[in-house]
Amino acid sequence: MLPLETKAAITGLTSPLLVKLAGLPELAEGQFPLERMALDLRSVPRHAMTPELLDLRWGALVGAQPLADNAPDSLLSQAWSSGRPMAALQGDSAIAKPGDVLELDPYRQRAAVRYRRGDNGNVLFATERCNSYCLMCSQPPRQVEDDWRVQHLCDLVDLIDGTEPSLAISGGEPTLLGDGLATVVAKCSERLPDTHVHVLSNGRLLGDVDLADRFEGLHRHLTWGIPLYGDHYALHDYVVQSEGAFAQTLRGLYALDAARQRIEIRVVLVKPSLERLEALVRFILRNLPFVEHVALMGIEPIGFAKAHHAALWADPADYTAQIQGAVDALSRRGTDVSLYNLPLCTIPESLWPFARQSISNWKNDYLDACSSCAVKHRCSGFFSWVTPQWTSRAIIPIELDLEAA
Ligand code: SF4
Repeated sequence: MLPLETKAAITGLTSPLLVKLAGLPELAEGQFPLERMALDLRSVPRHAMTPELLDLRWGALVGAQPLADNAPDSLLSQAWSSGRPMAALQGDSAIAKPGDVLELDPYRQRAAVRYRRGDNGNVLFATERCNSYCLMCSQPPRQVEDDWRVQHLCDLVDLIDGTEPSLAISGGEPTLLGDGLATVVAKCSERLPDTHVHVLSNGRLLGDVDLADRFEGLHRHLTWGIPLYGDHYALHDYVVQSEGAFAQTLRGLYALDAARQRIEIRVVLVKPSLERLEALVRFILRNLPFVEHVALMGIEPIGFAKAHHAALWADPADYTAQIQGAVDALSRRGTDVSLYNLPLCTIPESLWPFARQSISNWKNDYLDACSSCAVKHRCSGFFSWVTPQWTSRAIIPIELDLEAA
């Protein structure tokens, strides 16, 4: 697991600064303004570390701790004492590399990775607030005023690679930003028109058609990921711990369809939802025929989930018939279906074509048992914080002859 934040000795800044970490290739490409880039001193060969390079109008200089020791001579020591913005990262040097976007925070003396080039799970974090209180929430909400994030995210989008294949907008509940969410999506459309933008929302506020309409035609690769946990209001409302949520989410789904939005339904496979999975799929197929994709997702054992193990945990190995039935029903009707966060050895081989390596690189790990497994390269593995309590009893390395079969 590669963390997203590290301690750093930061000088020359009086407020947090977002910067694109740059090596010589990024300098040569000239895609981003110099003052919004930070030269990654670790990536510069000694022979190229010249006063002319350091004197460019970089937003900051970033290196490893201790910074002065990286210098071929006293150039960096002079820069360090000159008062210009500099950051010396501590810990694992792999935490950030050229192409990534860093936020340098002089108050906390920390550097946070806000975008990691090549990562499969980059997220624009929209808000800490939420209007639901899901039993398995991995990011427990905080009711704080954070509308400032709209401008912050727009500034971040400015620094993301134009070739980035996909980005999620998540929270909290992103629609609590209201029109601010549309502003962020519009910014993505302007700067990242070819990037697939995936808004993860509970959909409850989108029943306000004025809000849903704001997204019509806003980005040509925009998809909404909306969770639905039951075919009956009581089940969905129980899982999200919010009375009336089922009806609100359905209204949101219809409003999104009316606004010509692409929609994915996300079902986290918590025990009560797994037990009625086939009924839920029938409900989706009958009532929400416009849904393009259904993602059936293994639970992330962190946040509120840890307090609700008994209510939530169901070993997927005990529910293969339900999962197979759901996948078959969706596939028969031409609805795309994917299995996220489900290790291959916990599901029948007939379901492997639907299983995705869905866990973001920075929080993805494997167990010791996986080291001899023939299909590790295509298995989702586990969230880094998995414990035996949340691990299927079916975990067993797959042997080569089965993979070849
Ligand atoms: S043994 Fe590990 S790598 Fe192999 S299928 Fe199971 S979880 Fe995946």
